[in-house]
Amino acid sequence: MRVVVTRFAPSPTGRLHAGHAFSAIMAHDRARADGGRFLLRIEDIDGTRSRAEHVDGVLADLRWLGLDWDGEVVFQSQRLPHYAEALARLAAMGLVYRCICTRADIAAAASAPHGVGGGLYPGTCRHRAVDPALPHCWRLDMSAAVAQAGGLTWTDELAGDVAADPLAQGDVVLARKDAPSSYHLSVTLDDAAQGVSHVVRGIDLFAATHIHRLLQALLDLPSPVYRHHPLLLGPDGERLAKRTGAPALADLREAGVDGRAFAMDLRAGRLPLGFAVGSD
Ligand code: GLU
Repeated sequence: MRVVVTRFAPSPTGRLHAGHAFSAIMAHDRARADGGRFLLRIEDIDGTRSRAEHVDGVLADLRWLGLDWDGEVVFQSQRLPHYAEALARLAAMGLVYRCICTRADIAAAASAPHGVGGGLYPGTCRHRAVDPALPHCWRLDMSAAVAQAGGLTWTDELAGDVAADPLAQGDVVLARKDAPSSYHLSVTLDDAAQGVSHVVRGIDLFAATHIHRLLQALLDLPSPVYRHHPLLLGPDGERLAKRTGAPALADLREAGVDGRAFAMDLRAGRLPLGFAVGSD
């Protein structure tokens, strides 16, 4: 039987709150329950929003919670050539295109009669010649990619076997205007490169897995087992977020709260501060 390898992969763009702690505990405990490995990856491709102080905060928070990780911490900012290589491969397959649309362009096209609603990219640049000197992102030609990959499924420990439906996600960005990759591309490549066997993460990322499963097929990568756990909710029934006042773990740490006891409470469903666990 293969060794269970999970990971916690925060973006160091702010301080972690209890929702992050919950997710890290889930990933850590899933690995440890099977004598497996728990990895830590810092998702810092967003050079404008990532901060070294937040990386230090993540490490301190995990130690405070009593979660130890295996091996070196991996930083996405040090893996950019791998993302560029994968993008070039998809380009050689004719599956990506340059897009110069701004957010405003996309909003205007989506609200036009016959526009694509639901926040999906309307495909404006898909078949037009774009001057490569202009600032551009790279998008996946989703229909072409799906036609090439065929029907796909993934295994989810909580949801069962799931049929991937990446078409519903539209032509997603694989490399941003301001970064040589995107969340979707880098996370898919890194989970494979780090030998992650079980991706344990919040249910808010369930939709992203449709895309990740497709990228795995296109790039000949193994498909891990997934486990999309329910989210921790605040007293208002909404998912925790810094901007809606969820306390930062650093504040609890600095106030002298016992992190290991806090983690045990989260595990046992003894939820502090009026938190609740979402149904799915
Ligand atoms: N970096 C992502 C976040 O902080 C999580 C990535 C993942 O678990 O796939 O939301």
